[in-house]
Amino acid sequence: MYWEENIEKMDRSALNAMQLDSVRKAVKNAGKSVYYKKKLLDGGIQPNDIRTLDDIKRLPLTTKDDLRDYWPYGFLAVPKDDLIRMHSSSGTTGRATVIFHTASDIAAWTNLLARCMYMTGMRRSDVFQNMMTYGLFTGGLGFHYGAEKIGALVIPAGAGNSKRQIQLMMDFDTTVIHIIPSYALHLSAVFEEMNLNPREDIKVRTAYIGAEPHSEKMRRKIEDLYGFKAYNSYGLSEMNGPGVAFECPEQNGLHIWEDHYFVEIIDPVTLEPLPDGEEGELVLTTLQREGMPILRYRTKDLTKILKGSCPCGRTHRRIERIKGRSDDMMILKGVNIFPIQVEKKLMDIPGVGTQYLIILEREGYNDHMILKVEVDRNYFLGDMKQLETLRRRIIDELKSEILITPRVDLVEQNSLPKSEGKALRVIDNRKDI
Ligand code: AMP
Ligand code: ZN
Repeated sequence: MYWEENIEKMDRSALNAMQLDSVRKAVKNAGKSVYYKKKLLDGGIQPNDIRTLDDIKRLPLTTKDDLRDYWPYGFLAVPKDDLIRMHSSSGTTGRATVIFHTASDIAAWTNLLARCMYMTGMRRSDVFQNMMTYGLFTGGLGFHYGAEKIGALVIPAGAGNSKRQIQLMMDFDTTVIHIIPSYALHLSAVFEEMNLNPREDIKVRTAYIGAEPHSEKMRRKIEDLYGFKAYNSYGLSEMNGPGVAFECPEQNGLHIWEDHYFVEIIDPVTLEPLPDGEEGELVLTTLQREGMPILRYRTKDLTKILKGSCPCGRTHRRIERIKGRSDDMMILKGVNIFPIQVEKKLMDIPGVGTQYLIILEREGYNDHMILKVEVDRNYFLGDMKQLETLRRRIIDELKSEILITPRVDLVEQNSLPKSEGKALRVIDNRKDI
């Protein structure tokens, strides 16, 4: 039942003592990077100043902007020669935040994923079909190596190509899959088109779903359509990727692996730490990462730490499923998108006016982005062809930036609602399934 029983069930006081020791080491290691050397010096902090776990709040918070500002190597705590892998966050084709790993970082991450999957019953006899994008994104390779470490037979299917996915599941008797929840819904419709019933025609008994927010209702819907158990998997590239927090068989909150991550929940406005049970922004510190340690990273994900112990016997605390974000990042088909990316592209296109509105819709099991864009009145001679050319250009340019093909509606100047305060840029109409 346990991959590493001594760690997973470690007594809380021993776990806390281990964390304190790890935090000190992490601060020391981080201090070797250009970024933290400066930050810690500015704040007058030394590893020895961390006397209790409470002292962590004296350390500076780190944001995605800091990672961008010191891109690409400002956070490295080891010489470049010691690195063996790079990954990035999903979404942009521009300057995505990048994370570098040493061999021991990759081994540790792989082990964490093995721990997560073993916890939910994956064994060497399983056939694991990984339907996540391979490459720079973390979901593909992260799970891949974890499943291999358990000794399962891994089918590195990658994302998309629905009919082939279904064929692979049937031909090789896949028993475990890793899939984006919105894609799981979409895929169930493809089963139907092929006159197949996922409850009867495949042998999958376990699914890992993650990379995007989803409700309990949506999870139950997926479980019901397929007749398997779906476990929530949470992670972010800055903290390696998947393997940060994962549901156990209880399916009641996600155990966050406290031997690798120091967990805090802060008030996103005052930035003060909040007690267990209160909802706020998740802040994480890497405790064992060698190549690119990150202290107190503001994930911008909203959740809370669940009080009480878990019947599974693991002592690592649980977080509730992610409620939303404290920033304006949207996640569509598992891809992270910031409105500012859309805006920057639009503003570079001659003919585009000043206002735009992003509308997210769910049609059946598919999510779409509809983009309403005001057209600059002075630019046009009223020629339909010219408008169509502009529309096509907007679609093409956005697709290359955000990896999603939006539906673009051109509208007249001053027709989009204007707000007095902060501009309304995104309307999310995606209803719970
Ligand atoms: P990336 O850095 O591209 O891996 O994206 C990480 C972000 O995806 C997280 O900060 C979350 O906002 C979101 N995310 C990942 N897994 C989940 C999950 N299980 N539930 C909700 N959001 C998730
Ligand atoms: Zn548990």
